[in-house]
Amino acid sequence: MRIVVLTGGIGGARFLLGVRAYAREVGAEVTAVVNVGDDLRLHGLRVCPDLDSVMYTLGGGADPERGWGRVGESWTVKEELAAYGAEPSWFGLGDKDIATHLVRTTMLDAGYPLHQVTEALATRWQPGVRLLPATDDRLETHAIVSARSELASPAAANSAGSADLDGAQRAIHFQEWWVRYRAQLPTHRFVFVGAEAAKPAPGVTEAIAGADVVLVAPSNPVVSIAPILAVPGLREAVTDGPAPVVGVSPIIGGAPVRGMADRCLAVLGVECSAAGVGGLYGSRATGGLLDGWLVAEEDADTLVPDVTVRAMPLRMTDEAATTAMVRAAVELT
Ligand code: GDP
Ligand code: CA
Repeated sequence: MRIVVLTGGIGGARFLLGVRAYAREVGAEVTAVVNVGDDLRLHGLRVCPDLDSVMYTLGGGADPERGWGRVGESWTVKEELAAYGAEPSWFGLGDKDIATHLVRTTMLDAGYPLHQVTEALATRWQPGVRLLPATDDRLETHAIVSARSELASPAAANSAGSADLDGAQRAIHFQEWWVRYRAQLPTHRFVFVGAEAAKPAPGVTEAIAGADVVLVAPSNPVVSIAPILAVPGLREAVTDGPAPVVGVSPIIGGAPVRGMADRCLAVLGVECSAAGVGGLYGSRATGGLLDGWLVAEEDADTLVPDVTVRAMPLRMTDEAATTAMVRAAVELT
């Protein structure tokens, strides 16, 4: 059996622990197609937050408390950068993490494409699943915010409210919107810069075409899954492919389990609920994405037209619970 998983960072990484365990039970091969929309250059280094969250988590090197970055991390370089007043100061890079970005940046600068760099980094971490970036090309998620709000402090911007939405607009990188401004700015929409010219990374469409099932991880639908599907040809590979597509809801009882997906959904005007996200993905029968939608027990009454919905406990409290979710998702098809 071959399983393809579309995934973002932290939520997707925890889900993949269950996918890997399930795959070991049934003898399946797993390919994770990972979002690159969060990627950015910082202090000359190429940082790939979602690829790294997945790689560190599956490789046993992630910090379980913080959810991102390395366990046992130290922050000497960050402190030294701060002493120089080097910006941006709002994005924390740990010392161990920096080694990853140094190796990655050196390889990219030498001409290796991102999927090969990812494979090289994974030889250390042995994640047990094949990790592929959605694309080797530049694809960056930006938030279009009110120009005035970007200049103001986050608190002032927030209190400025929606009146600002009529004014001049400005694009800021998703990480700045998320980490620096805590998703608090009045926001018009998200754009995936570079998406039109991007191509799926080698192996991505082949993996999807050869899959027995495609799983959409309980990742942020707006800024983790949507940028993957924005790569031309990738969405079509999934929606027109032979494999059934089953999504797992990141929203339980009307709220994200962790993070600020509610803020991202609000920008799109989509209700923060299992039904809202299911409807956003839509049915594959009517031009959307999904054949099946796994929701939490709390959301058992969820209806998505032309999509098979099943309810079960969806909290990834440990690997056994997550593996049960994966089994249910696979069996939903
Ligand atoms: P990011 O790229 O690091 O933001 O991570 P993802 O996009 O992959 O995942 C973020 C999403 O994971 C959030 O919207 C959370 O609601 C969801 N999530 C986190 N933990 C759980 C969980 O235990 N169960 C479910 N169903 N979703 C979860
Ligand atoms: Ca992310």
